[in-house]
Amino acid sequence: MTIHLNQYPALVLNADFTPKSVFPLSTLNWQDAAKGVFLGKYVRVVDYEASLMTRTQEYVFPSVLAMKDYVQVKNRGVPFNRHNIWIRDEGKCAYCQARLKLNEFTFDHVKAQVHGGSTEWENIVCACQPCNGKKGSKTLRQVEKDHNMTLRVTPHVPTVYEIAAKARRLGGFGPTPQEWIDFLYWESELER
Ligand SMILES: [Zn+2]
Repeated sequence: MTIHLNQYPALVLNADFTPKSVFPLSTLNWQDAAKGVFLGKYVRVVDYEASLMTRTQEYVFPSVLAMKDYVQVKNRGVPFNRHNIWIRDEGKCAYCQARLKLNEFTFDHVKAQVHGGSTEWENIVCACQPCNGKKGSKTLRQVEKDHNMTLRVTPHVPTVYEIAAKARRLGGFGPTPQEWIDFLYWESELER
């Protein structure tokens, strides 16, 4: 029986049962997972209902593993980039809520750059080209008066959990094994 490397991936949690990394998601292919389990680096949290017979014993594929020792996580922040801005705003124009593809949205500086608006999470939103054109360097109040346009999102620094949950809804992670859901999405699901 041949088991492909992309079958039975294992989600890796830290010793405190939080994902070692959410973005990108910390996972191992089944061979690396097996090595780590064999070396005693991980403890099994949840197993798949699938196994492999070796010459001496049955190896059950782990679905969720936790580090035996806690690993300091350096930076839990979400990288500020085009992809993540699109995910935070759920692939929609912040003004008219039109669905936008990743390659077609434009950045809007809520407070225009000419007025000292900076390029950071709190001042950047996804916008469609027509809305962005109408907005230009106008203030929110002006653009509401002139074009009846309202900002429908609050530009904010997203958490990794928020991005992970939204990426999942937008299909960004591909299929997620059911066993992983409890460890990945509880925070954002509770927020809703
Ligand atoms: Zn729009």
